Amino acid sequence: METKIVLKDSEIPKTWYNIVADMPNPPAPVLHPGTGKPITPDDLAPLFPMSLIEQEVASQRFIPIPGEVRKIYALWRPTPMYRAKRLETAIGTRSRIYYKYEGGSPAGSHKPNTSIPQAYYNKMAGRKRIATETGAGQWGSALALGASFFGLEAKVYMVKVSYRQKPYRRMLMEAYGAKVVPSPSEDTKSGRRILEGDPDSPGSLGIAISEAVEDAATREDTSYALGSVLNHVLLHQTVIGVECLEQMKIANDYPDVVIGCCGGGSNLAGIGFPFVRDRIAGSKKTRIVAVEPSSCPTLTKGVYAYDFGDTARLTPLLKMYTLGHDFVPAGIHAGGLRYHGESPLVSQLFHEGLIEAQAFQQTAVFGSALTFARAEGILPAPESSHAIHGAIVEAKKADEEGKEKAILFNLSGHGFFDLAAYDDYLSGRLTDYEHPESKIREALERLPKVSE
Ligand SMILES: *Cc1c(COP(=O)(O)O)cnc(C)c1O
Repeated sequence: METKIVLKDSEIPKTWYNIVADMPNPPAPVLHPGTGKPITPDDLAPLFPMSLIEQEVASQRFIPIPGEVRKIYALWRPTPMYRAKRLETAIGTRSRIYYKYEGGSPAGSHKPNTSIPQAYYNKMAGRKRIATETGAGQWGSALALGASFFGLEAKVYMVKVSYRQKPYRRMLMEAYGAKVVPSPSEDTKSGRRILEGDPDSPGSLGIAISEAVEDAATREDTSYALGSVLNHVLLHQTVIGVECLEQMKIANDYPDVVIGCCGGGSNLAGIGFPFVRDRIAGSKKTRIVAVEPSSCPTLTKGVYAYDFGDTARLTPLLKMYTLGHDFVPAGIHAGGLRYHGESPLVSQLFHEGLIEAQAFQQTAVFGSALTFARAEGILPAPESSHAIHGAIVEAKKADEEGKEKAILFNLSGHGFFDLAAYDDYLSGRLTDYEHPESKIREALERLPKVSE
């Protein structure tokens, strides 16, 4: 039984998997905030190139990966899958734990799986510049990388609390040639409005999205790019799960549970959707589990409703699990999981019972991260550590029930730029934070009114 399960370069998938083709119900339409009617591809044209809009609404099962994108994927793909034998020993489980490692990409996470095709399609459409937001800086650095590969300018609005906590991510983006500002910034109307109300605003992904959307909508040469949530982003990430299916065959195994941390839902969807396909087809009973922080419990405590993707209410209305578009989560270290909403596809599958969700506190999550690092050697990103914790909890539960399970989780990135968070944990400065129900109820009262 091998520890490291690898594929050949020639086995990089040739197509992405589009779950829309297999969902029990068609995706809920995206609504225009002004009219309340479903939006058309033309409504999105100021923000995205048409090739990406077509992927956003596509219904065919497999979508070809352009040759130029596959060539760049080959810099780090196929990514390895590991059987975590040393972790199994460390926690004394009888279950088999596997993880897919996406931290070996140049930017250190799964995000280049979508930033590369997004930059490629923008280049093909003749755009010169891309505006985006970033939380912890992982998406910003992935987009900066993609933009530099295709000779595009990148402007990144970085959530202020992360800008301060993670200066090395900003430096990496600048090294790739991007321009980075802390959000809320003085560069946009949305940013200035927030700063007037609260000059010390720590920022949030919702606010940073408003700024990037405004930037792109007000400039001809500029597109907007999103690192998660949207259908085309999840589509690109399925390259992870498609590889996992092949690697599981080599391991002569099949997961009973597939686990991913969940911010906007892209890495969970990336590893999980190809397994959801088997489950819908009825050939397997695999459980797909989304793990989120207790301080930003979108699936576990939010409501399934139409809401804006951003704080300034500039985006179309998405039907998704949400904590309300003006929700500002606590400044926890898993910056990439601090988003008020959730991918509409993940939301709908969760609503229909094909995906489960769990929420954990950050001190428990960091404890598991160190157990993992000391056993397997890789220092995980705080976001990914939620999936590790979910996998360890799952294995221990199976042991208690006298069962033996195959558990697969996505190690979405490394934590080399998150050492300050580990320092806080090791010196006892990290505290848990449960978002109060009353605050959630308050934010939910401000959801847009939509007649369905
Ligand atoms: C951005 C990020 C996440 C959260 O985003 P999803 O879209 O939910 O995957 C998780 N892990 C890492 C390492 C990230 O960079």
